[in-house]
Amino acid sequence: MTADDSLAPPRSLYIHLPFCRRRCAYCDFAISISGPDLQDRYLDSLLEELHFVSRTSAAAAPLQTVHLGGGTPSLLGTERLARLMEAVAAGFSMEDGCEVALEANPEEVSPAAAREWARLGITRASLGIQSLSDPTLRWLGRGHDAELGLSALGWLRESDIPQVSCDLIFAIPGQSTGTFLNGLDRVLRFEPDHLSCYELTLEPGTTTRRLVDRGRARPVAEAVALEQLRSARARLLAAGLTRYEVSNYSRPGCQSRHNLNYWRGGTYLALGAGSHGFLGGAAASALGLPAGRARGVRYWHFRDAATYVRVLGQGSSGIRDSEQLEDSQIGLERLALGLRLTEGVEVAEAQLLAASRRLAAHGWLVVEGERVRATPEGMEILDRLTLELIAA
Ligand code: SF4
Repeated sequence: MTADDSLAPPRSLYIHLPFCRRRCAYCDFAISISGPDLQDRYLDSLLEELHFVSRTSAAAAPLQTVHLGGGTPSLLGTERLARLMEAVAAGFSMEDGCEVALEANPEEVSPAAAREWARLGITRASLGIQSLSDPTLRWLGRGHDAELGLSALGWLRESDIPQVSCDLIFAIPGQSTGTFLNGLDRVLRFEPDHLSCYELTLEPGTTTRRLVDRGRARPVAEAVALEQLRSARARLLAAGLTRYEVSNYSRPGCQSRHNLNYWRGGTYLALGAGSHGFLGGAAASALGLPAGRARGVRYWHFRDAATYVRVLGQGSSGIRDSEQLEDSQIGLERLALGLRLTEGVEVAEAQLLAASRRLAAHGWLVVEGERVRATPEGMEILDRLTLELIAA
């Protein structure tokens, strides 16, 4: 890969807030369904980690993005979110126009909550609508119905939060293509700034996977999933959104800057249970992580919220482990992530460029100078293309 500044000091901060009302039937994320007591103790521990990190040189560069992810960050309630945002603002310098994103579920959205989030400095709300079919939402184990999903979207649109994004899922067993597209059309009437459209994956250990494995639900045929993806893409483009990543579409200037940094192979700090960070060697050393002569270091936290709280109480940083990454590993990861973007990725190695040109001959990739990007057809088989390039 070509040299760039991606291992510069981190300008992005991810904060994991792992609490959910219940576990959705398809979810295998690091979440906790514990109530206010653990939430309070978790926040105390999180702020402890935040204070430690913010006093190191790893936090010296002004932040361009802060992402409150989960879990369901909106579940924390305004008071806890206010405490967290005050600590972020006190501990880190934030660039003018810093993106501050909050993931929210419809159950916690109200006109008052949206007003409070705007007041706390949230610049982007990402709403987990997932489907506008009530039977499908029940099958997914979601805690809201279609009507609440649309109401929440409307309240966010009317609020002072500058950007609103929605998540929708396709290829859900039992949801027809017509029902899926009807839901997408209803969401598009609210003119969201950004839309993430993900294919359902049946992760091992989830309820949805068990239902399919036991023959109680029929997985969506590959051809139908592809039809849903293509139809959604066409509708999203017709609605004036641009695809900038395999599953993500936005109006101009409304891409998720936080995720763009991640897909471009940039560095980022992470706080909280289950979160992963990626830093250059110097920043990693500043956090006390072994960096040796490695160019990059990935680190991750204790996955379970209660364990995270306990180890912080014993004086640990909350970081479970870390891994030093060689240039070649960083290059391959950047290739795999960069190909997800419609802008593509710079490739300098002759071997990789030759392999890219071979795949371009099939219409799956475009090679312009040293930049390689996937065509819409290539995006449909991206995992396969990435594996072929990595093996080149
Ligand atoms: S709300 Fe999101 S993070 Fe929480 S259980 Fe459902 S899918 Fe998982």
